[in-house]
Amino acid sequence: MIDILSRAHAEALDREDPLASFRDRFYVQPGTIYMDGNSLGLLSKDTERRVHHALEDWKTLGIDGWLRADPAWFYLGEQLGARLAPMFGADPDEVIVTGTITVNLHQLIATFYEPVGNRRKIIATALDFPSDIYAMQAHVTRHGGDPEVDLVKVPSRDGRLIEEDDIIAAMTDEVALIVLPSVLYRSGQLLDMERITRAANERGIPIGWDCAHSAGAMSHKFSEWGVDFGVWCNYKYLNTGPGGVGALYVNRKHFGKQPGLPGWWGYNKERQFDMLHEFEAAPGAGGWQISTVPILSTAPLLGSLDIFEEAGIERVREKSLAATEYLMQLLEGGGLTGPEYGYGIGTPRDPARRSGHVAVEHAEGPRIARALKARGVVPDFRPPNVIRLAPIALYVSYVDVWDTVQHLKEIIETGEYLALAESREVVA
Ligand SMILES: *Cc1c(COP(=O)(O)O)cnc(C)c1O
Repeated sequence: MIDILSRAHAEALDREDPLASFRDRFYVQPGTIYMDGNSLGLLSKDTERRVHHALEDWKTLGIDGWLRADPAWFYLGEQLGARLAPMFGADPDEVIVTGTITVNLHQLIATFYEPVGNRRKIIATALDFPSDIYAMQAHVTRHGGDPEVDLVKVPSRDGRLIEEDDIIAAMTDEVALIVLPSVLYRSGQLLDMERITRAANERGIPIGWDCAHSAGAMSHKFSEWGVDFGVWCNYKYLNTGPGGVGALYVNRKHFGKQPGLPGWWGYNKERQFDMLHEFEAAPGAGGWQISTVPILSTAPLLGSLDIFEEAGIERVREKSLAATEYLMQLLEGGGLTGPEYGYGIGTPRDPARRSGHVAVEHAEGPRIARALKARGVVPDFRPPNVIRLAPIALYVSYVDVWDTVQHLKEIIETGEYLALAESREVVA
């Protein structure tokens, strides 16, 4: 019997891991353990090849690349949307690769926030990512409302988690729109999207999900659940690079609705180049595009999807859950959550309630995050005290997880963090 807390056990888990071979397709820097793929995923060789190919097409084809590149640039957002759709339980034409989370949120709030009479409130949460809140505040204000009154931020009972019951209780007949994160970016809590969506549907309130921290970490069933719209980025778990283009979902029952922020790239493609001044939306999620598809920051998704289609999102989710569970087991089993070490776990233990990262809390969080980095482990830090660690299924091994916990242990034992600056860098 191997002691499950031993490094030998981690080695055994790696030997049995069906996804282990994918690691070699990513640029994992020697001597480092990359635990920050929930913030910026790593470059794969597949993706690098696709970007070089796009550059080559531009070099040789110039303007003709719009129709003659492989794949044709003109249809790239639609084609990649169709390839992403299965991970979201959507039809191919319900997903379009375009924009960024915040731009797409502005677009879809502008489309779906239609306050009338007393029905003017938007439901969000007190633990939302700030950009989402800025967008909602702006639309409330533009409709003559007061964000202090009309933006309902469902509070957290413990500062880490949001209870589904509290969200549903906030769904009064004064609510015009609900926009929620699928996963809370700090604690990693996964909300029960199906239950909340069904409750919104029963009350006739449109609901949209920001899936920044679930896209590429698990599968979704948007159409079956009755989700009205969704947004996500592709640069976190989907590894498309800094500022890589995001995506949006619109349920087909809304096809034909006028986009709140129309632009020429959302025009019916058959007639886009007729250059008419009367807007005619494309028949599908593509209608919500605004501007020209940025080929060089969209091409990475071709390589990313080559890998995900091969690995399978269900296997990715399975390994991710096993690795986050293992990380928490090692922290607890090794006594790190006791008073001697002072670490805490802010992420739900129930696998149905968490995504791909573990929130490791410590009063000395900023300095410990720095000490980890000095030891070659890349985490990130979110104030006030959360070190986020994401054992990414495709390129982090169980031995990496074991070693990370060992580093966390030694950092306290040596006290080396005490010599480091308490402040964090501009990008944390
Ligand atoms: C990462 C993240 C964003 C980032 O938005 P961009 O507009 O793509 O920069 C927004 N919302 C959430 C919840 C995020 O995690």
